[in-house]
Amino acid sequence: MKTDKQRVLITGAAGFIGSHLCDRFLAEGFEVIGMDNLLTGSMDNISHLFPRDDFHFYHHDVTKFVHVPGKLDYILHFASPASPIDYLKMPIQTLKVGSLGTHNLLGLANAKKARILVASTSEVYGDPLVHPQAEEYWGNVNPVGPRGVYDEAKRFLEAMTMAYHNFHGVETRIVRIFNTYGPRMRLFDGRALPNFLRQAIKDEPITIYGDGQQTRSFCYVSDTVDGIFRLLMSDYHLPVNVGNPVEITIKQLAEEVVSLTDTRSELVFEDLPTDDPKKRRPDISKAQELLSWSPQVTRAEGLRKTYDYFKEAVGKLS
Ligand code: UDP
Repeated sequence: MKTDKQRVLITGAAGFIGSHLCDRFLAEGFEVIGMDNLLTGSMDNISHLFPRDDFHFYHHDVTKFVHVPGKLDYILHFASPASPIDYLKMPIQTLKVGSLGTHNLLGLANAKKARILVASTSEVYGDPLVHPQAEEYWGNVNPVGPRGVYDEAKRFLEAMTMAYHNFHGVETRIVRIFNTYGPRMRLFDGRALPNFLRQAIKDEPITIYGDGQQTRSFCYVSDTVDGIFRLLMSDYHLPVNVGNPVEITIKQLAEEVVSLTDTRSELVFEDLPTDDPKKRRPDISKAQELLSWSPQVTRAEGLRKTYDYFKEAVGKLS
């Protein structure tokens, strides 16, 4: 189809962050081609886009050769299982999408002369020995532990992306995404906030792993998407952290969910998963300076919106 609009390919389009990216790029006037193999994504996240003629969807696995007819101005590679329980269940697919999938999309970017942004992660820092984590930190990753399949795939993704930049001159961007939350997270995604909200809504025990003193820093999805959009439009090719620097313990998060939802649920303590990072907080100086970006949505506001979404989603279960 001939178009004057800028065309962007988004892989992982039916996923949590991918679907919000589709919404943002459409709102900015782009023609969007979404791609997903629906391994962890859901058509429910993008069904509202199907009536539009500036949105197209390809059901495709990016670890296989990727063909997109016509011009492409931008590619965003967001396809990957991203929750610890997903990459434990699908270790080989996780490794393949970060490696073979990334290779295919970098090849496509080279062929189309498109700028490509790849989704990396705070997991490249592993269980960090430096706090907060700045982009210069090389990380503390266990390659043979259960999280290694995701962490090493994403580290490979970064290395491959730099190689295409240096060797082929492809315009590349690398975003390291920290914990992000919001509507369209899956109820059974297994991550802390979806578990806590689902459990609280159903008055079931809220499962804290370990003593709950481990920390995370939660960024609302519209802020994450805005950081990604700004990075893509910037001229900076080295990795940039995108996340919210407000750090809390997991126990604190559970308590906030209890008071928000007014639940009868009790907190229960379970075993901490292997290699679970003890602390995580992004240093976002780079994003602030280079992209004039910092998170705008407070946790109170973000949790409220996410709660509204989860109430409806849990309602549909019964
Ligand atoms: N966690 C928890 N209870 C749950 C799910 C997760 O206490 O039901 C903990 C988990 O062990 C980790 C933190 O919450 O310390 C964040 O986990 P999540 O899976 O959300 O993401 P991660 O940041 O570990 O990738």
